[in-house]
Amino acid sequence: MASSSKPFPVANSITPFWRTEPDTLDSYRSTATLPPTTDIVVIGAGYAGASTTYHLLDQAEPFSRPSIVILEARQVCSGATGRNGGHLKPDVYNFVGTVAETHGVEAAAELAAFETAHIPAIEAVVAKEKIACDLVVAQAHDVQLDEAHTEKLRKAYDTLLASGSEATKTAAFTTDMEAEMVSGVKGAKSCFSYKAGRLWPYKFIVGLLKKCIAKGANLQTNTPVVEVSKSENGWTVKTERGSIQAKQVVFASNAYTSGIAPEYANKIVPVRGICSRVVVPNPPHPLSPTLDSSYTVRIKEGIYEYLVPRPDGSIIIGGARSVYVQDLKNWYNVTDDSRLIEPARHHFEGYMQKYFHGWEDTGAYMDRVWTGIMGYTTDSLPHVGRVPGKEGQFVVAGFNGHGMPQIFLSAKGVAQMILKGTEFEETGVPAIFKTTKERLDSTQNTILSASHLKETETEAKGPVVDAK
Ligand SMILES: Cc1cc2nc3c(=O)[nH]c(=O)nc-3n(C[C@H](O)[C@H](O)[C@H](O)COP(=O)(O)OP(=O)(O)OC[C@H]3O[C@@H](n4cnc5c(N)ncnc54)[C@H](O)[C@@H]3O)c2cc1C
Repeated sequence: MASSSKPFPVANSITPFWRTEPDTLDSYRSTATLPPTTDIVVIGAGYAGASTTYHLLDQAEPFSRPSIVILEARQVCSGATGRNGGHLKPDVYNFVGTVAETHGVEAAAELAAFETAHIPAIEAVVAKEKIACDLVVAQAHDVQLDEAHTEKLRKAYDTLLASGSEATKTAAFTTDMEAEMVSGVKGAKSCFSYKAGRLWPYKFIVGLLKKCIAKGANLQTNTPVVEVSKSENGWTVKTERGSIQAKQVVFASNAYTSGIAPEYANKIVPVRGICSRVVVPNPPHPLSPTLDSSYTVRIKEGIYEYLVPRPDGSIIIGGARSVYVQDLKNWYNVTDDSRLIEPARHHFEGYMQKYFHGWEDTGAYMDRVWTGIMGYTTDSLPHVGRVPGKEGQFVVAGFNGHGMPQIFLSAKGVAQMILKGTEFEETGVPAIFKTTKERLDSTQNTILSASHLKETETEAKGPVVDAK
């Protein structure tokens, strides 16, 4: 791996549950050496890189498909996508409520609709390409255990409903006893229930990449890009295995983007998160929830866990911020996913028994825990589109802890921009995602300003965007 103070993926990352069945594509190289020239280089073989390549090849006419080289520093889908919760959950009232305050209700409604559109879009591509990735679309419950947080969210929800946000109308809101009964969570003060998806992210990405390779994409794993510089006809992409001349370059490099695109330094910040798999030996009490739904359990604002049930009866649980967020060195500007966040190592043990009615005797235990590096942005919004001042460079990165319902259609928009020269505003990607000079010049940092740092453990508040 490249050695530098700039962010790059590290070697020997912890194996997450999703990567315990590596595909033959895992360390694939389409050709033994790098092609010297190509139309497009896509940097990163995670969700953003695979989706952008998929859309580029899907939108182009078969006789005029661009040549594309995908350069991946490690194995395919070894970044955040291969380490996440697998939760494809559109936000229709939570961060969207914050956006209504900062950017107006129209921008908020646009974001909620865009995220909601990801569920049918992913269903369609999974069906069309016959990708076996355990996709389930079912109910999600977001449970609040705190009165003050309930009131804040209820206000945002009401504002969005009053503004006519169609996506927000899909969420039902319950309180007190009803919320506890709907969710099965002990002490629930309120609950939002709506539709969400969940899937095996690694299998989804590998499925997309196979389609890309079948249409001519050249995939090169274990090939870190160390520099992108201007050349006569476009860009020189320098890797540890030689250089490629490309007309266009796509940074789908998420948390590590500023390592090779310096304008994103202090704009996309590597943030480490932790996730686990919990196995359930005995069934819960027959009257308790069977966990057909996925969950976010919010203890207080910014302190939450997300739970995603698997078809095999196990549960993916992530979060644990309450035990590590006070000490920045655990998570802020951290690229090391070869180690756990030590204070959170045992956090998910006994979680189900503690929070769910009727789960006390299930013997549920944690069988695996891992970390992953997210690309948090200093205004909590992704960077999508043309890199300002760098013609032929595109970015689709910085999806915080919430890329699953944002990336696929953002990548579709970027593919249109590259292939057809479409303006960002015509792509259907939310206006607030556009990467602009103004955003890059801003000194705002919502990651740190929304945090907690002087508060006690249980009072800690987190960044605006839930990781789930
Ligand atoms: C623990 C955890 C739980 C999460 N849970 C959820 C969830 O349930 N739902 C949700 O919506 N979101 C969740 N997220 C966030 C979500 O995973 C991300 O937003 C999303 O996966 C980002 O996809 P990506 O393709 O942009 O990034 P990545 O998957 O990180 O892909 C970027 C790729 O670029 C490669 N790369 C970077 N730099 C270089 C370079 N210089 N040269 C070559 N290759 C390079 C990396 O190796 C990596 O493979 C979670 C994240 C974590 C870490």
